[in-house]
Amino acid sequence: MLRIAVQSKGRLYEDTMALLSEADVKVSSARRTLLVRAKNFPVEILYLRDDDIPRTVADGVADIGVVGLNELEEQGAEADVVRRLGFGACRLSLAVPKEVDYTGVQWFEGRRIATSYPHILTRYLNEQGVNAEVHVITGSVEVSTSIGIADAIFDIVSSGSTLVSNNLKEVETVMESEAVMIGNPLMSGYKRSILDELLFRIEAVKSAEGKKYVLMNVPKDKVDDILAVLPGVKSPTVMPLADAAWCSVHTVLDEERFWEIIGQLKENGAQGILVVPIEKMII
Ligand code: ATP
Ligand code: MG
Repeated sequence: MLRIAVQSKGRLYEDTMALLSEADVKVSSARRTLLVRAKNFPVEILYLRDDDIPRTVADGVADIGVVGLNELEEQGAEADVVRRLGFGACRLSLAVPKEVDYTGVQWFEGRRIATSYPHILTRYLNEQGVNAEVHVITGSVEVSTSIGIADAIFDIVSSGSTLVSNNLKEVETVMESEAVMIGNPLMSGYKRSILDELLFRIEAVKSAEGKKYVLMNVPKDKVDDILAVLPGVKSPTVMPLADAAWCSVHTVLDEERFWEIIGQLKENGAQGILVVPIEKMII
């Protein structure tokens, strides 16, 4: 049994559970206990506050966990980053009141900075050769400057709207973060094999993200033109149809370039274009 530490509520909870569910790890949503066994896969979920996840994995109480890279870095816990997960994206930034005439990182010399991330901030200030007072505050760091307990803040930013509504501006980005899967470095071979199976499934889910399966009918004499429009397809499927003058072309398209390519396909005579979601892709 592989034990996975997951944030019990908060910003990472839903995406983490969605990822497990897409990997066909079925966990009862009626979550009344701290520890829940999956129904169809040898894992159990340990629900924790995100602050406790890095240490729980480093100590081996859980084998793997999902947590923000920011939290892992702050705690300096001895856990390996097994995989970046692509959700929970945010950055850790320094922000100052918007009326400040900011000239560069030396502005922070001798100033007071409020943060919940003292280790990452102190390391950054040392690297920059800046001496500042670091004030540790848990929660609502963004109000520190307006109530006069700090000259600047160092906090998580995603859209930046919290900064704007507190009359702050972002001046230095210190770290980019996202949710990561972390693992205990001393996991047994048996647990590692369950983790490998889980990673294989996650890979299949992630590979399919942003991709569509596209089927279309193409006049036979236009097939070469159509294939020329399709990007990076090694070998699209071309199948005969009952009407000998037509054939069916199947391929995988990136959502990003989708409308542009569909337009070109139509111009080149494709008809009856079907677009189907892809759940998993094993490359
Ligand atoms: P807990 O109760 O588990 O301690 P928390 O309040 O400390 O939760 P959340 O606010 O749920 O934590 O954030 C968890 C993680 O989500 C952050 O550490 C960060 O990696 C990520 N995250 C992404 N975007 C944001 C954002 N806009 N604000 C805060 N965290 C964000
Ligand atoms: Mg927390």
